[in-house]
Amino acid sequence: MKRRDLLAPALLTGLDLPAHATEPLRVVASFSILADWLRVIGGDAVRVEALVGPDADAHVFTPRPSDARKLAQADLVAVIGLGFEGWMARLIKASGSRASVVIASAGIEPLKGGHGHAHDVDPHFWHDPVRTRQALHTLRDALARVRPAEAEGFARRCATYEAELMALHAQVQSWLGPVPTAQRRVFTHHDAFAYFGRAYGVKFLAIKGMNTEAEATAGSVARLIQQLQRERVRAVFIENISDPRLVQRIAAEAGATVGGRLYSDALSATGGVADSYLKLLSHNARAIATALQGQPS
Ligand SMILES: [Zn+2]
Repeated sequence: MKRRDLLAPALLTGLDLPAHATEPLRVVASFSILADWLRVIGGDAVRVEALVGPDADAHVFTPRPSDARKLAQADLVAVIGLGFEGWMARLIKASGSRASVVIASAGIEPLKGGHGHAHDVDPHFWHDPVRTRQALHTLRDALARVRPAEAEGFARRCATYEAELMALHAQVQSWLGPVPTAQRRVFTHHDAFAYFGRAYGVKFLAIKGMNTEAEATAGSVARLIQQLQRERVRAVFIENISDPRLVQRIAAEAGATVGGRLYSDALSATGGVADSYLKLLSHNARAIATALQGQPS
């Protein structure tokens, strides 16, 4: 082998090249919210794809062959963990991917699920900005491990984003602050908002458990209608990832009106009201605060 050929691999590592000359990191996220966080932190240094896109339900996703190909080509794969994307581990294995895998929920203290369903922990931590901040740090560090040359940029963008998120957190507290405790009850489709409820002192009732796959029985629906009437719940919401008809029927039978749409497990399509995580959080909080304040005591 000629000396020139021996040197070639070293030149290809990119260590001696300016950062802009290297290819963006290929990052695959399980779903849209996680992809948004990675795009913000990663900036130009990453190219991020989400397997489960806007308005789609990651609980019941059926991967396509093209999803396995995306994983096979990825440098970094990001998941929420806590049983949220149960299909992901098998898909990663089947794809033969050699990418690093980062679990965004690592180190986050999960809430317990209270509904006796398959998962005993609640994966929907992104509805709590404080827990999300911890996930942002985990993602920032994972990106830096895969692309150390960009670590400074990842850290800078993460810090800016974190400041925006904490400012929004304070704003949400101020929106919900005036709502009397007795009125802080919201009804929705699946049990995705316990973290929001814990963070801001709102009680959520849901038709289904934390997994959208669980079927609602006639008996459980009847009990919910009674509970809505007994607790005088007037803030009822449909979700962007679920069929709205059951919520609409329960609301009608309980004498409540549907106050709007909450974005639970997915962003809206680009151009929609919740096409970024910050817009999702802001939209949900504003809708809930408005519905609760319009409620007679
Ligand atoms: Zn969910």
